[in-house]
Amino acid sequence: MEKQGNSRRGFIKQNALLGLATAAGIPQVVQASNLMNAKKKPALLGGAAVIQHNWPSWPIWKPETDEQRLLEVMRSGVWSRKKVVDEFEQKWAATIGAKRCLAVVNGTNALNASLAQLEIGWGDEVIVTPYTFIASASSILFNGAIPVFVDVDPETFQMDPTKIEEKITSRTRAIMVVHILGLPSDMKRIMQIAKKHDLIIVEDACQAWLAEIDHKKLGTFGHAGCFSFQNSKNMPMGEGGAIVSDDDEFMDRCYSYHNYGNPFGTTAGAVSSGTVMIGTKLRITEYQAAIGLVQLERLEIQTERRNKRAALLKSIIEDVPGIQPYRLYDDVTRAAYHLFAFRYDKGQFEDLPRERFIEALRAEGIPASSGYKPLNKMPYLENAFQSKYFKKFYTSQELNYERYAANNQCPLNDKLCNEAVWLSQNVLLGTEKDMMAIADAIAHIHAHAEELK
Ligand SMILES: *Cc1c(COP(=O)(O)O)cnc(C)c1O
Repeated sequence: MEKQGNSRRGFIKQNALLGLATAAGIPQVVQASNLMNAKKKPALLGGAAVIQHNWPSWPIWKPETDEQRLLEVMRSGVWSRKKVVDEFEQKWAATIGAKRCLAVVNGTNALNASLAQLEIGWGDEVIVTPYTFIASASSILFNGAIPVFVDVDPETFQMDPTKIEEKITSRTRAIMVVHILGLPSDMKRIMQIAKKHDLIIVEDACQAWLAEIDHKKLGTFGHAGCFSFQNSKNMPMGEGGAIVSDDDEFMDRCYSYHNYGNPFGTTAGAVSSGTVMIGTKLRITEYQAAIGLVQLERLEIQTERRNKRAALLKSIIEDVPGIQPYRLYDDVTRAAYHLFAFRYDKGQFEDLPRERFIEALRAEGIPASSGYKPLNKMPYLENAFQSKYFKKFYTSQELNYERYAANNQCPLNDKLCNEAVWLSQNVLLGTEKDMMAIADAIAHIHAHAEELK
């Protein structure tokens, strides 16, 4: 029965693919290839892997075009922040469509500094998603505020905007909106809620370079937008980050904060400049900015390519039973696709565990992983609540961890964390044929799920 169902499906699929291939203008060679041959053995069972080549390596570095700028900086001996960092900031602001940009050492500190300079701290609550990288939540605790978790919409992988208002209290100061996976959150609804309740919006766009809603770039909707340029990110410079905003006063303060608290515009080497506020040091170097300028030149083309490949891959795999790719909100004009994610329902795969499914994908030459664990359930929260500092500013009732944990349950996120499968962004820099091969592999695994267990 099962086998029959599969081969019928395979047949329908094959025809659907041919139709798609024609519509998308996919080369004849791809159309003619033996796609969705469900009889092929998965690589984990001894078949040939569908991907026999290496994926584009990351980060990309081409000596011919990329090294001149870096060498100029190195040979000049001017390594601490100066003209090249200024140029990078101007270009990043222009690229994102923000009035101002400040480059900082990493995305984590972009978030920390933004919250600090928006004066979010002790006694405040900040709403955040549990489906994200640790820095989104730790930046809230770092400033002495309490993260309040709002459950996700599993279809979009983002914070569910319909569940925000029930979490707002008299202490809520801000919403940390994380555009996780590089997919835009539902900013229109979130901005309406923020306006109604007079809340600050900080966008964690650390995975969302060049992503857009109605052609407006993410990071420009809230009071501040934060980016990461860490090595694995779509815009890599080793380590690096940025804050963007249209608010001059806020950006002047961020500048001071990132430069010992010295006045806005003071440069490296300026001593006794009349320190105006409490600051720290978050400056990036000239050579990091030189690397960033080079990477920025290819970001647009890569983003375009990731969007095309993701749309193609999504359209082919979403018909496989048990595979549910992310859904984009209607007003999204572009995503960044730091990750290509789908939910895996093992019930449709003869109860083949997700880890085994991922193992089977890897055997096919497809880099896959299972992604985040629930961020609302990790020990750092209780650890912060038990710290001397939190005890100085909060009552024992407020730091009752059992009560906090009970109020911050996110059952849909728990489920999502058990179902998600990620493909890394460099996979989306592959060819159309590669996307077909990934779909092929998933179909093979589906057809042989019982044997793979
Ligand atoms: C990478 C990342 C950060 C932190 O950026 P770093 O540059 O690594 O400090 C914050 N939030 C999200 C969602 C990220 O993916």
